[in-house]
Amino acid sequence: MSSSAYPPVLTGLIKRLARLPGLGEKSAGRIAMYLLQAPAQEVEGLAEAIRRMKQEVRTCSRCFHFTDEDLCSICSDPARETGEICVVESTADLLAIEQSGAYKGRYHVLQGVLAPLDAVGPEDIRIGEFLKRLDEEKVSEVIIATNPSSEGEATAHYILRLLKSRPVRVSRIAYGIPMGGDLKYTDRVTLERAMKGRQAF
Ligand SMILES: [Zn+2]
Repeated sequence: MSSSAYPPVLTGLIKRLARLPGLGEKSAGRIAMYLLQAPAQEVEGLAEAIRRMKQEVRTCSRCFHFTDEDLCSICSDPARETGEICVVESTADLLAIEQSGAYKGRYHVLQGVLAPLDAVGPEDIRIGEFLKRLDEEKVSEVIIATNPSSEGEATAHYILRLLKSRPVRVSRIAYGIPMGGDLKYTDRVTLERAMKGRQAF
């Protein structure tokens, strides 16, 4: 049955769902059918969870990971104060490293990479905030975990240059992650090895 044979309200939902990443019209239709038949309470719970997420989730004032308080759960955990800061491009990359279980320090989420062609400069990727943290927190090691893409590499080298004159060890994860790869699609074991095999940068 083509979606045009559905009532407009249903077609509208399917169109919205199909815009979500990873979903085509077919899976969007399946989800819409599931929701249509699910108990009202479950569907309302889902709608409420989406609404609350939009209203309450913001970025951590220190590391820019997502949180619903001022500081995220990692920044507010004293056990994570190891003197290490792992610099990642995105929250998705942070979560991938967390799942590997190979790292116990804190993070700094750049929320992007340097991309001169798209006019993304250092002020757009939280570099100033990062340098401020180095002054304020007792940081002994910075682990640069940007992706091994050309922008990720350029960003890593930019940060390395900024850190040259500072008394901080700088390492870069690399081992096991292919060039052009993406941290969030890297399996747990490879990522764990990459983190453990990080090298001075
Ligand atoms: Zn945080």
